[in-house]
Amino acid sequence: MKLVESSLKPLSTSMFNVEHIRTDFPILKLKIDGKPLVYLDNAASSQMPQPVIDRMVKYQTMQHANINRAVHYLSETATTEYEESRRRLKRFINASEDREVIFTSGTTDAINLVAHGYGRKFIGSGDEIILTTLEHHSNIVPWQMLAEENGAKIRVVPINDTGELLIEKYKQLFNKHTKFVGVTHVSNALGTVNPIKQMIEFAHARGVPVLVDGAQAAPHMKIDVQDLDCDFYTFSGHKLCGPTGIGILYGKAALLERMQPFKGGGDMIASVTFEKTTYNTIPHKFEAGTPPIAAAIGFSAAIDYLSAINMSMIAAYERDLINYATEQMRHMPGIRIIGDATEKVAVLSFAIDGVHPHDIGTLLNQEGIAVRTGHHCAQPVMQHFKVPATTRASFAFYNSMNEVDALISGIQKVQKIFS
Ligand SMILES: *Cc1c(COP(=O)(O)O)cnc(C)c1O
Repeated sequence: MKLVESSLKPLSTSMFNVEHIRTDFPILKLKIDGKPLVYLDNAASSQMPQPVIDRMVKYQTMQHANINRAVHYLSETATTEYEESRRRLKRFINASEDREVIFTSGTTDAINLVAHGYGRKFIGSGDEIILTTLEHHSNIVPWQMLAEENGAKIRVVPINDTGELLIEKYKQLFNKHTKFVGVTHVSNALGTVNPIKQMIEFAHARGVPVLVDGAQAAPHMKIDVQDLDCDFYTFSGHKLCGPTGIGILYGKAALLERMQPFKGGGDMIASVTFEKTTYNTIPHKFEAGTPPIAAAIGFSAAIDYLSAINMSMIAAYERDLINYATEQMRHMPGIRIIGDATEKVAVLSFAIDGVHPHDIGTLLNQEGIAVRTGHHCAQPVMQHFKVPATTRASFAFYNSMNEVDALISGIQKVQKIFS
């Protein structure tokens, strides 16, 4: 049973060796049409290192059973491992209690949980919800569905042309009807890091709770939910080198306890009769049915892997990557960088004069380079910049400076073809 240990040894700062790290990711050895894969679509989904794959294989081969149901060995093992995963996630974000971490199927699922579980109970007709132009559709549509149902109103914080929120405008949106704020920590389309701590403090001074969509932040920086003092925080496993189908919702216990369940079914109940059902305690109240046990365990292996490398080192290295890429792109004729915030993660959205993003994506793919083209599920951002789509290169800590160079020469090739 020597499946998990492989490369969880901590690296010291001087040892941030990207070539060494890359050997943990089998998929990075792929060739696409004979060209080495250059994977720059990490904001959509990042890749899984061998220790995470191994951990999931170990679970499936030696530990699998349904949880919370039986006294037999495997069920107890699976339950222990699942709850241990919750404990590690709690530590990863510095939550104060395990029960404040709810496993969901991802960020989208978590936001829907809050829109239903909190919104339907505490937000009513004429109440206002503040969102921002930078939101992913996941943090827009659930609130619109709620507003349509109960007559609440959505107010939107605008952005400037570098892709930063106008914080004065945010403050002006508050009034006595304001009941909730939903804000993304980091924009998936532009990479902008929002000043969420300051925004949370301002909302709390007016008694308004805040949900932070951390899908693009948790993979790139250390998250401390107690320091942020956010009421809800969510992210997905598959953007953090973990599997799909899993994510977490962090919520302050006092709020979660007052919320109504989102999904009904097994495990979320205390007792059921046809006259009346009473609900289980948190977090189980929000985890109806059999959860993705293997995915939860893989998710916790992924955060262990990232923690062993160290989130601060990841952030520092990725800053070097984005600075290197941005400096080169800034000086290229015919290139427009979209989103140039002072505080941003390693995401580079851009346009090439006279070339449709779809063609850019197709031609780069022929060079083995995976980027994303489209609206990135953030159409309001596209509307602000008056473009239908952008090309987005999004980096992870396992990307190398050589891969930045490959992207730059790929772009030059595209420009030559269209010149
Ligand atoms: C990816 C993403 C989501 C949605 O995450 P899923 O894993 O697809 O549920 C939400 N918000 C942001 C900012 C994202 O980048």
